[in-house]
Amino acid sequence: MNEKLDELKKRLGEVTDLGHTGLLLEWDQQVLMPAGGSALRSDAIATLERLAHERFIADEVGQLLEDLRPYEESLEPDSDDASLIRVTRRDWEKARKVPAELRGEIAHAAATAMPVWAEARQNSDFAAFLPHLQRNTELKQRYIDCYDGEPYDILLDDYEEGMKTSEVAEVFDEMKRELVPLIEAAAANPVDDSCLQAAFPRDKQLEVNHVVLERFGYDETYWRMDEIVHPAAFSFGTTDIRITTRYGTDLESLFSTMHEFGHGLYERQVDPALDRTPLGTGVSLGLHESQSRMWENLVGRSLPFLRWLYPKLQETFSAQLGSVDVEEFYRAVNKIQPSFIRVDADQVTYNMHVILRFELEQDIVLERIALKDLPEAWNAKMKEYLGIDVPDDRRGVLQDIHWSGGGFGYFPTYSLGNVISLQIWERVREAIPDLYDQFEQGEFGALREWLGENLHRLGRKYTPQETLRRVTGSSLDAGPYLRYLQDKVGELTAAPA
Ligand code: ZN
Repeated sequence: MNEKLDELKKRLGEVTDLGHTGLLLEWDQQVLMPAGGSALRSDAIATLERLAHERFIADEVGQLLEDLRPYEESLEPDSDDASLIRVTRRDWEKARKVPAELRGEIAHAAATAMPVWAEARQNSDFAAFLPHLQRNTELKQRYIDCYDGEPYDILLDDYEEGMKTSEVAEVFDEMKRELVPLIEAAAANPVDDSCLQAAFPRDKQLEVNHVVLERFGYDETYWRMDEIVHPAAFSFGTTDIRITTRYGTDLESLFSTMHEFGHGLYERQVDPALDRTPLGTGVSLGLHESQSRMWENLVGRSLPFLRWLYPKLQETFSAQLGSVDVEEFYRAVNKIQPSFIRVDADQVTYNMHVILRFELEQDIVLERIALKDLPEAWNAKMKEYLGIDVPDDRRGVLQDIHWSGGGFGYFPTYSLGNVISLQIWERVREAIPDLYDQFEQGEFGALREWLGENLHRLGRKYTPQETLRRVTGSSLDAGPYLRYLQDKVGELTAAPA
């Protein structure tokens, strides 16, 4: 039996290697590749995607899984081997339904569309991007046709396994109801954030980001950080974690660096025994985002954390922040105000950006909207949910990279991540009563270890729902997150002491 298991592991190791190699080409495309390399690179990425897919969906894998059934049943379901066989079988049955050629076409279309999108975004030229959006949408329809079920459920399942559109809609409806009055309350008592309007030099931002990262647990033996158009985290197993940031004149890079660190840490702390298997990564995008949002917001935008960091910030940016005290800075970085760009949005309005995309994506997938009308529909919803007029498509429908890669079904996981981050945070606070005292000392080891022990090390051994239940003892629940936002808005709208 062990021979069969070894054979399965060998093959899954190869599939993982091919996947990491394809991802490395994508990382390189976004970070280092000269722009002219795009067409050939699309071919190379598509080839690797197809090879990995073919190698995984092969009949031999199915036979091995079948042969291993009695062995699997003899094992503890929680053991690594039983989990490996169980999850691989589920992945294999799902992946078999999609022809390798279609996989390759989807990867090729995405790699081709990405640079077109980047340029179209720059020029605010939706018409230039439209043919690629059409192509991606057609391919997604063919992908949906490979499965039975509700079209949007099928897409969602790729990012949040087992999650249903109706469950998301229920949570989002509750959020919409609660958040709209909070946004109004915040608008009625605006926070002064003029201290953030100064220009912060890039090299000094980089210096501060490194100070923070190193305290968080970034170690150059296993990590690196680069500059990119759309910040992201990449992992090639537990020992090679790469995060990226973009630099503007404001301090956004500080928060986006902490965000990407959260993603990277999750991958870094997966049990190394799961490396080179389908289990050796974060379980879902929602859980992943819970980690990035936690480091960005629950740590990075907390007063105890800023009490530690702020003297360093003031020293580095003495001209900009010398006369601003930490409470004022804290209020400024937590300001709630409707804005155009999702990635720069505050913790409350952020969710409205996501809800807007979730609704539009369903309209696209169910063909309730013509793609050419998307900018108009986008702008109408921004007006309705956030009360603002979108001035151009660069700050509207073209702002995010996801649709250039055909990533429909991805956006909801951002807000699910917000919700989950607070469910986990409540457990963290119980487990580490002096957490905030530690932050004030610049100590983050206990938090990092708790997350590693209770969540990260599990990798993909369990389903997202089961993972959430093991970590928090409950299923998806917007309650803790909404209470947190209410407290925050209450604090910010109260007159400063
Ligand atoms: Zn993220």
